Amino acid sequence: MNKDGLIYLVWSDLVGMARTRGVPIADFDRRLESGLGWANAGQAMTPFEHLADNPWGPVDEVRQIPDPETRFTIPGNDMNPVLHAVICDSRAAPGKNWNACVRQFCREAVAELKSETGLDLIAAFELEFLIESEDFHPEAPFSFRAAAVNHNFLTGLEHMLTSAGFTPETVEPEYGRGQYEISCQPRTALKAADAALVSCEIAREAARRFGLRASFTPKPTPNHVGNGCHIHLSLADKQGHNVSSDRSGPLGLGKTAAQFCAGVLKHMEAVLAFTAPSPISYHRLGPHHWSTGYRCIGLQNREAALRVMPGISHDPEKAARGFNIEMRAADCTASPYLALGVLTRAGLEGIRGEFELPSPAKIDPASMTAEERAEAGITALPVSLDAALKALKADEVARTWFTDDLYNTFLSIKSWEADYARSTAPDQTFARYRHAY
Ligand code: GLU
Ligand code: MG
Repeated sequence: MNKDGLIYLVWSDLVGMARTRGVPIADFDRRLESGLGWANAGQAMTPFEHLADNPWGPVDEVRQIPDPETRFTIPGNDMNPVLHAVICDSRAAPGKNWNACVRQFCREAVAELKSETGLDLIAAFELEFLIESEDFHPEAPFSFRAAAVNHNFLTGLEHMLTSAGFTPETVEPEYGRGQYEISCQPRTALKAADAALVSCEIAREAARRFGLRASFTPKPTPNHVGNGCHIHLSLADKQGHNVSSDRSGPLGLGKTAAQFCAGVLKHMEAVLAFTAPSPISYHRLGPHHWSTGYRCIGLQNREAALRVMPGISHDPEKAARGFNIEMRAADCTASPYLALGVLTRAGLEGIRGEFELPSPAKIDPASMTAEERAEAGITALPVSLDAALKALKADEVARTWFTDDLYNTFLSIKSWEADYARSTAPDQTFARYRHAY
């Protein structure tokens, strides 16, 4: 491996951003052990140039310690040198976990799921984003034309993702004007979150190299189509077999998967504070846009917060392999680690409590009468970040999923963001998030 140049130590924070510091590659081995320092209070950074109130103040540092398995490179070209990077865990000291590390939060949640059920959580993120530039003219939704005019960018993107070890499942134009999507391949949870974090960064970098800008903001303007980050989930046994389905179970779900979904539905509002965690997230969520406005589950129902996706094959065994549950009430202002961690925690509550799956939404829940929804236990999702945070605070079980520092700092950042949006002109808020994400 070339020893010239920089390698970026990258870590994800509470607002889902990839933060970084660079070190000479020649020094990397030394950094593997001791990492790099970073003020604890850095974890209280909002998406903007502002530090929210936090328990640490100016004192103390965490170590950003590289996980060598996550080292990756983004190929260079005539204009751009190769980018070397590695994902870090934020640790209190080498070998000592930090109570506000998002990657550790995810790791512990899936480890607990595994120790209690023997099952691994498998996940795949679908990342929607907007492409723009001064002379960029969007083409028709999903059209070959929309792919062809951006073929340079799309093939460059695929090449960069594959070279970095994150070969996508698909890359394509989406429904919105200038909207595109990367579907990541399914991986075990922590790796899936790593893939989501890096895939967004690679899309931003690929866009820049082709004179474009990529934004993963949940809603570019009030009238744009929303950018979702759908999270596909399944459960795998020790042999790696998908055990999420059972043809005799409700919606084809196996017993444990049904309980997992019931747990997520029960704690959906607290979960939402982490999966749809910005004021802009609530401009995306809502009925009639396939962006989901209701807390419900449905078979192949794109208006349900949880969509059950049966595998597609005449062969039942092959179909079972592709069976998964899609969490649609998520976007890329979320940390992928926090999102998967809270989904796992909520699902685990359902498994522990042997929760029953509520009645599914067989049609668009917005087209059901209020009585029909009430009977099925279907409720509207919170309509603002404030409402989601209030619901989070009211969920005493969800409170047990977090350390004090992580919980309080997250709430502090998110309350600041909600205040910011309340006191800022909507156009400016949309623009700020569009630029930040
Ligand atoms: N753009 C939609 C969203 O905000 C999703 C469209 C789709 O089903 O892929 O979630
Ligand atoms: Mg999509």
